[in-house]
Amino acid sequence: MKIAFIGLGNMGGPMALNLHTAGHDVGAFDLSKPACDKLAADGVRIATDAASCVVGAEVVISMLPASQHVEALYLGNDKQPGLVPQLAEGALVIDCSTIAAATSRKVAEAAKARGLAFIDAPVSGGTGGAIAGTLTFMVGGDTAALERARPILEKMGANIFHAGDVGAGQTAKICNNMLLGILMAGTSEAIALGVANGLDPKVLSEIMRRSSGGNWALEKYNPMPGVMETAPASKGYAGGFGTDLMLKDLGLAQENAAAVKASTPLGGLARSLYAAHSLAGHGALDFSSIIKLVQKR
Ligand code: NAD
Repeated sequence: MKIAFIGLGNMGGPMALNLHTAGHDVGAFDLSKPACDKLAADGVRIATDAASCVVGAEVVISMLPASQHVEALYLGNDKQPGLVPQLAEGALVIDCSTIAAATSRKVAEAAKARGLAFIDAPVSGGTGGAIAGTLTFMVGGDTAALERARPILEKMGANIFHAGDVGAGQTAKICNNMLLGILMAGTSEAIALGVANGLDPKVLSEIMRRSSGGNWALEKYNPMPGVMETAPASKGYAGGFGTDLMLKDLGLAQENAAAVKASTPLGGLARSLYAAHSLAGHGALDFSSIIKLVQKR
């Protein structure tokens, strides 16, 4: 399968590599040269720009930071033409970025007007899941498009859920990430409280992991440095899932809650906490660094 992969960051890089390793003919592009160089070193073909990347591609996958990047890539803006008119006849577009459901629907409409299939397929599972090929995909779109995408998604993930029509994958994703943001802030608070009382964070984390406070942060992504060797916390909060990306997702959840008049008080508080953390200069650090807000210095 000839696949164009655009956006080779913390998530897109390993996802594109898994498709290449599975034997697909992957052409890739990112605006960042270091991101391209990393994949080129693994033998992935790098295109000079997005437009040349998609030439002849049967499937186009994007993994970009936010709505504005996805909209500009496919629909264009005053600086660049969009890709939609340039995609090959019959191409399938899979956008894996976490963005506003309304943007997914807008891009899907433009694709449909050209007779092209589109699904939103945001992911969960972190960079560890992207590397291991065990991501969870939350798909929005029609069944026929999902079934075309399935063999490709299976090379990058272990769970594929059909959430509903275009945009539904994004809605599921922001519900999940609102919960994750709250859980990470709460887990940080609990560990900091224990440590302030002289408890060993490793012992406390294990107690809570096996007790009723157990959650994904304690299982796979402990926010306290030194507790989990593989977690971003033990690597200076480098890589992983950026605080500013979590802030974006919590903002999307609040915008959505306002639109449907939902009450999301903890989600709102979590957004404010991550915003304060970002303003303190930690926007580029992994989101588990939120523990710095409540840790004794
Ligand atoms: P990242 O910042 O590491 O990577 C994004 C990449 O997109 C960068 O390399 C950037 O140069 C590139 N880019 C931006 N605009 C571009 C354009 N027009 N053309 C080509 N490349 C462009 O971000 P990430 O952590 O890989 O996250 C990507 C998406 O996945 C985000 O929407 C994020 O919310 C979501 N996500 C991230 C995680 C995680 O753990 N990091 C988990 C689930 C979902």
